[in-house]
Amino acid sequence: MTPNQVNLLGMDRQLMAGFFSDLGEKSFRADQVTKWIHQQGATSFEMMTNISRDLRKRLSTLSVVDIPGIANARCSADGTRKWLLRLEDGNCIETVFIPESARGTLCVSSQVGCALNCTFCATARQGYNRNLTSSEIVGQLWLANRALGSLGADPDGLPGVGITNADITNVVLMGMGEPLLNLDQVLVALRLMLDDFAYGLSRRRVTLSTAGIVPAIDRLRVECPVSLAVSLHAPNDELRDRLVPVNKKYPIRTLMEACRRYVADAPRTRITFEYVMLAGVNDSPQHARELIALLQSLPVKINLIPFNGFAGAGYECSLPRDIARFQELLIGAGMMTMVRKTRGDDIDAACGQLAGQFIDRTNRSRKMRAHPPA
Ligand code: SAH
Repeated sequence: MTPNQVNLLGMDRQLMAGFFSDLGEKSFRADQVTKWIHQQGATSFEMMTNISRDLRKRLSTLSVVDIPGIANARCSADGTRKWLLRLEDGNCIETVFIPESARGTLCVSSQVGCALNCTFCATARQGYNRNLTSSEIVGQLWLANRALGSLGADPDGLPGVGITNADITNVVLMGMGEPLLNLDQVLVALRLMLDDFAYGLSRRRVTLSTAGIVPAIDRLRVECPVSLAVSLHAPNDELRDRLVPVNKKYPIRTLMEACRRYVADAPRTRITFEYVMLAGVNDSPQHARELIALLQSLPVKINLIPFNGFAGAGYECSLPRDIARFQELLIGAGMMTMVRKTRGDDIDAACGQLAGQFIDRTNRSRKMRAHPPA
C-alpha cells in the first residue's frame, strides 16, 4: 500500500459510497465491492468481474484490500483457536475463536495493548501502544472467516481439532484493548459486522465489552446499540477503584445511570455484567449481596469469570465452592447468572491472557519490573 492508496477493507458502505462518489461512480458500486471483499474474500480487483475493466484498473491504482498477516496460529485441545496477527507497523495483536455446539464466537481486539491498567489483566501489564484502524478490527473477522474454512481456504493450515461449529455466529469485542476508547474506528467495524452486504450479524450477536467509559456508552447507544457487556468486577467504588482504575473517573453510580439509559432505549435487552472471581478479594457473600442491591433494578445477565492466571499476576482464582456460593446467592435473588467456562487456557487464549507483541508506549512493563505489585 502506497501513502496515497486507501484500504477498502475497513470502509463501511457509507464511507465506500463516498469513495465511489468522489470517483464519479454510482453508489451501488459500494454494495458490489463490499460483497466482494467481505463475502467472497476478494483481495484483488481482478476477481471483481461485475465491475468494468477500466474501473478495476482505477481502483487498483487508488486503493488496496490489505489484510493483516498471520504471524502464528494455535489450536487448543478444546478446539479454541488463536491467531497472532502482524500489523503493518510490526505490532502484533491476538484474535480468538471459541467454538461451541450451537455457536461460534470470535473474540476481537480493538487496540494494540491497553491503557486502562486493570490490575488482574495480562494485556494491561503490557501497556498501551495505539488504536487499531477499522481495517485492522474488521480484518480479524475477515481472516478468521477464511481460516475457519467458510470460504474454502485455510491459510494457517490447522486441522481444526475438536471444532463443533466452525461458523462465526457471534462476535465479541473482548480481546485486547478498550473498544470505547477507540469508538470512531470501532463504529465503522461494527457497521460492517451488521451489514447484510458484509457479515450480516444481528445486533444481539455482536457484543462490545467495556470497563465503563461513560460518555462513549451514550454515544454507542445512539449510533450503534449492539449488545453491551460491562466489566464491573466489584460492587462498590472503594474496591473497583483498585481493580479497574478508570472507575475513579467514571464511578459506579455514573456507570449505572449510563446502563439505565442504554436499556431504556433498547427494550427487551439485558446488559451483561462481567465479574472476575478473585480469591479473597471480591468473592465473599457480602460482595454478592452488595452486587444484588446494585443491579437488582436493571435487566441484567451476570457472567462470573473464573480468574485466568498469568506470570506475576498476584491474584488467585476463587475456589469452585466460593464461585458456586456466589452464583447461588445471585440466582436466589432472581438474577440470571452464568459462570463463564474457561476456554483455550492451554494456548493462553482465555479471558485476560491476550498479550500480543508490541512496543509499550506507556513504558508500563518496564515500570512493573522495577516496582512489581504487592
Ligand atoms: N477493555 C474491555 C474488553 C477487554 S477484556 C473490558 O474491560 O471489558 C475482556 C474481559 O476479560 C473483561 O471483562 C476483563 O475484565 C476480563 N479479564 C481481564 N483479565 C482477566 C483475567 N486475568 N481473568 C479473567 N478475566 C479477565
